[in-house]
Amino acid sequence: LRTVFLGPPGAGKGTQAPLLSEYFKACHLSTGDILRAHVKQGTDLGIQAKEIMDMGGLVSDEIMVNIIKDELESNLTCKNGFILDGFPRTVPQAQKLDEMLTARNTPLETALELEIDDSLLVSRITGRLIHPASGRSYHTEFNPPKVAMTDDATGEPLVRRSDDNVEALTKRLATYHTQTAPIAAFYKSQYKWRGIDAAKKPDEVSVRIMESLP
Ligand code: ADP
Ligand code: ADP
Ligand code: ADP
Repeated sequence: LRTVFLGPPGAGKGTQAPLLSEYFKACHLSTGDILRAHVKQGTDLGIQAKEIMDMGGLVSDEIMVNIIKDELESNLTCKNGFILDGFPRTVPQAQKLDEMLTARNTPLETALELEIDDSLLVSRITGRLIHPASGRSYHTEFNPPKVAMTDDATGEPLVRRSDDNVEALTKRLATYHTQTAPIAAFYKSQYKWRGIDAAKKPDEVSVRIMESLP
């Protein structure tokens, strides 16, 4: 499987991508998770990225393309296929990805867009809880952990992302509509785009995704 997930913050990319990755034994690369790991480790990139992420902006295309390139080359699980989550986020990123995949003889098969109205995203984002080590996400109301504020699998504490507030979300949504949404046309022109109704329950979204795959 070689696919990318498109969709605004809170659409469900981080919920659905790990399920597909498990099923297809393909790697799941979340650029948001990779950047948050850099922030936590205090690398040069992490220090630069934190400010941009908290403001709801985008890290430069050059940095993001290099990150994906490095991961696709070094992560052995990616040899079985890949699911990209949070990348590409701009048309230049989508074009660079195409060039990179063509050079490797592993073209993208589909681009899955999780489609949802902005009005549903505020409650999803403000209730989101994450397990930083795995990137697993929960929701205080829609997907609560078995024990409050605790990861089901490891028992470790859950946290809120520093950018999961209404102010940063508003900025991220504006960034999404201007910079990321135009990618749909790029994949439509290649007949690779598939729209998924992401307002449905997680199980129903999963079924629709499976039906949309090659
Ligand atoms: P969400 O899950 O809410 O859509 P992510 O975890 O994917 O958000 O990304 C968090 C932040 O990391 C983004 O708001 C952006 O600042 C940065 N980021 C992640 N992926 C990219 C990318 N491909 N290009 C530029 N910035 C990115
Ligand atoms: P993204 O990675 O696209 O930003 P997430 O997968 O992290 O989105 O989902 C955002 C929040 O909404 C999380 O708290 C998650 O538990 C919850 N969520 C995900 N999918 C659904 C759904 N289909 N219905 C209701 N809540 C959902
Ligand atoms: P560290 O600080 O641990 O040496 P960085 O955080 O600087 O590492 O970089 C991590 C990854 O991000 C590198 O593998 C590189 O591909 C990418 N990267 C970082 N900074 C840049 C940059 N300015 N331009 C392009 N890629 C970058």
